[in-house]
Amino acid sequence: MSLKIKVERTSAPKQKPATSQLGFGKYFTDHMFMMDYDTGEGWHHPRIIPYQSIPMDPAAKVFHYGQTVFEGMKAYKTPDGRVLMFRPYKNLQRLNRSNTRLSIPSLDEGLIMEALKQLIKIDEDWIPNELGTSLYIRPFVISTQPTLGVSPSEKYHFMIILSPVGSYYEEGINPVSIYVESEYVRAVAGGVGNAKTGGNYAAGLKAQQEATEKGYSQVLWLDGVHRKYIEEVGSMNVFFKIGNKVITPALNGSILDGVTRDSVIRVLKHWNIEVEEKMISIDELVEAYRVGTLEEAFGTGTAAVISPIGELNWQGDKLTLNGGRTGPIASKVYDFMTGVQRGTVEDPFGWIEKV
Ligand SMILES: *Cc1c(COP(=O)(O)O)cnc(C)c1O
Repeated sequence: MSLKIKVERTSAPKQKPATSQLGFGKYFTDHMFMMDYDTGEGWHHPRIIPYQSIPMDPAAKVFHYGQTVFEGMKAYKTPDGRVLMFRPYKNLQRLNRSNTRLSIPSLDEGLIMEALKQLIKIDEDWIPNELGTSLYIRPFVISTQPTLGVSPSEKYHFMIILSPVGSYYEEGINPVSIYVESEYVRAVAGGVGNAKTGGNYAAGLKAQQEATEKGYSQVLWLDGVHRKYIEEVGSMNVFFKIGNKVITPALNGSILDGVTRDSVIRVLKHWNIEVEEKMISIDELVEAYRVGTLEEAFGTGTAAVISPIGELNWQGDKLTLNGGRTGPIASKVYDFMTGVQRGTVEDPFGWIEKV
């Protein structure tokens, strides 16, 4: 596709927040990317415009039936001022897999990559460069046809917005406590669990809220059929070190295929650490804890990269992992991944894309 991206720059740049104020997803840069779809015409009118509200018809399908998908990725500023993205093509491929599942027309990955680079360059001054900070990138599609019939929309917007984000860990990498969910389920194979779509998150909010009230930061989901196999954590995939192996739930159709998950598997194999993708039940995990072979657990995702798990609560029993401290594997993988992303550690896999 040789669509040319039109650029309209803002005449009123916003004041940039102090790095200490950033947090996650609270501030947005001066520009955004937008493109429209109409049946018959396909995707058209790619443009970079000043960040702004968009008019929407109250009947737009996205408000009623949730036909929408999103991605989450990051750009990093290196200490010497270069701007790097981490495996962006993996995210664009996954975006199209999510599109297919939600009956949304595919996007041209080459065009989106070009849009990403141009948009990030225009708002480059917004990228913080302190250790742990980055520019969070949120591409997404919404269905906008203003009719209430349940059918795939004939009109869509694709947009990319950018948000400078602070360090996930204020004082170095820190373990979280996780509540193993036994009442609610997130997804089943054949559903949309392996697509990055808003409904999965809407379905998880109630469990998340109840876990927060009990003092846990996220829930660990079990499978929706047997209610016993481990799936993933909130917005992260999950890994366990049991004996001399690292185990992560196999992609079974209801788990999200995380880019960080795939990267961690490859890094561990590169270091000759044995990794196994398999079904693992909560009973097996608790048994490993009882006999003392469950040494470490951690979540993986773009936001935190690695999130060590210090405690799991399973039906009231508290399992303390590695004494509630960050384990050696989580720590080593975190340093390696964040180093590669920030351009301070050599990238042996060709994962880095220069903006
Ligand atoms: C985005 C997401 C992840 C993590 O994926 P990454 O590509 O590593 O950021 C894991 N689980 C769910 C449900 C997600 O939405």
